[in-house]
Amino acid sequence: MSEFKLLIGGKLVPGAATLNVINPATEDVFATAPRADHAQLDQAVAAAKAAFPAWSATPIRQRGALLAKLADELEARQNDFARLLTEEQGKPLPHAMGEMIGTIAMMRYFATLDMPLKVLKDDATQKVVQHHTSLGVVAAITPWNYPMILLIIKLAPALITGNTVVAKPAPTTPLTTLKFGEICARVLPAGVVNIIVDQNDLGSALTGHPDVAKVSFTGSTVTGKKVMESVAGTLKRLTLELGGNDAAIVLDDVDPKEVAPKLFAAATLNAGQVCLAIKRLYVHDSQYDEMCEELGRLAREAVVDDGMKQGTQMGPLQNKAQFEKVKGFLADARKNGKIVAGGDVLDRKGYFVQPTIVRDIGDDTRLVREEQFGPVLPVLRYSNVDEAIARANDTDYGLGGTVWGKDLDRAYAVAGKIDSGVVWVNKHLDMQPDVPFTGAKQSGMGAELGQAGLEEFTQAKIINMAK
Ligand code: NAD
Repeated sequence: MSEFKLLIGGKLVPGAATLNVINPATEDVFATAPRADHAQLDQAVAAAKAAFPAWSATPIRQRGALLAKLADELEARQNDFARLLTEEQGKPLPHAMGEMIGTIAMMRYFATLDMPLKVLKDDATQKVVQHHTSLGVVAAITPWNYPMILLIIKLAPALITGNTVVAKPAPTTPLTTLKFGEICARVLPAGVVNIIVDQNDLGSALTGHPDVAKVSFTGSTVTGKKVMESVAGTLKRLTLELGGNDAAIVLDDVDPKEVAPKLFAAATLNAGQVCLAIKRLYVHDSQYDEMCEELGRLAREAVVDDGMKQGTQMGPLQNKAQFEKVKGFLADARKNGKIVAGGDVLDRKGYFVQPTIVRDIGDDTRLVREEQFGPVLPVLRYSNVDEAIARANDTDYGLGGTVWGKDLDRAYAVAGKIDSGVVWVNKHLDMQPDVPFTGAKQSGMGAELGQAGLEEFTQAKIINMAK
């Protein structure tokens, strides 16, 4: 797992240049990745375009068998992949293993799906049938928080529906994606999957490329808007999975001691670098002090260390830019709120931040209004539920949210009033392969996972025949 190559047209090739990959727990350069230039990007798109006719004509079950083989090969090396994932991303090794297991499960799920014809009408005078056809070359662009699973939930539905792919990981976490490229090189026909790496400089050339038919993008809302502009010229199909500022509303019938560990985990998983993490917590007056105390205790007890060390609960932030950003949120929290626990970075090498609980902070502060993408949780007091719902919805984001309560009917009713693509009740981040998720408002458009996620990679086509 120490040599890395791009995958272009079925060949593993060096990049036109290289880029250093940093282990966020040590700040040391631990690997060198190949970096593509514009010519290699063009070659990758050309290879995907050339591979498309044969791949899209391959029977779907044959494509599915190849996807299952990719899953088998990933599974055979999942320990190596998990270690590499921890090294490049920072998450604790058991969590990296969890990401690999989820990745493989997603691949296996899509390997079994179909694009059935749907007969809409069939009578004496007409037959109307809906087909779903492949689109062509798909650009799959991923961020650095979950490099493997976010790649596969694009790549697997794209491939099973007969498209070919050019994938581009984030520059700070390219390695597991490149290693996956080696498996693709062995298993798939040349050009069906191509992998290039950039230094945040090839994204718009890829999304604007005239030979790319569809862009599936996961990343920040700011970049998502640029992607949307760049695809307008050719009206490419577009799926955007963007940022979030998810609220959790805790109803007043819960036991704070019982719920606090779940809330804490949902806010600090992957050091808070989860699009669907709890990023604002609304707690009823009557339980506010107790909940802050419980969360503070959990934050103080959490083991923050190198993800490779056994017993680590939370690793570092993934990169220096994010570390600096979160430092800004910590400063905002110290100035405008009361720190219950944490409040600073760790005094050591690596991008480590103390899990931080902040109370008595205003709704108009940066920590409450923006996406912190780090383990710094504002706990906000409310006195009636309608007010909490209105405050939860007072954001341009609309990715997810959670409601916590013993009375399920009441919790379900509150969930119905949150303006977001997904709301969990008494659980969090339950991503099932056959359950689609989608962002509302400025958190995105289109769906991933499930049949809806599959259809994003197809063109619906109606054949309407007179009899
Ligand atoms: P980012 O937008 O900076 O980068 C994402 C990807 O886009 C990277 O591969 C990057 O190289 C590429 N990119 C950069 N400029 C581009 C351009 N002009 N055109 C095309 N691609 C370009 O995001 P990030 O900082 O890597 O990731 C964190 C963000 O991702 C957070 O906002 C998080 O909420 C969001 N996210 C969303 C989901 C979801 O499913 N909704 C999942 C994970 C992360």
